[in-house]
Amino acid sequence: MVLKILLIIAVIVIIYFVFFKKKPLKKSDRSDVNEMVECSACGTYTQVDEAILSGNKYYCSNECIGKV
Ligand SMILES: [Zn+2]
Repeated sequence: MVLKILLIIAVIVIIYFVFFKKKPLKKSDRSDVNEMVECSACGTYTQVDEAILSGNKYYCSNECIGKV
């Protein structure tokens, strides 16, 4: 009987864990999602994961890398 209760609790915990894991996954996958960086060429603010890093400077697009 105790084993059955433990099994039910385990299932609930697993379901809970799966539901909770789904949401933060996106965040932990990409660290500092909301961090904005300024494009060195045009000054446009771009999300750090979308910005292009070139020579220690961030650029919003390949066009801006060509400008500098
Ligand atoms: Zn730019």
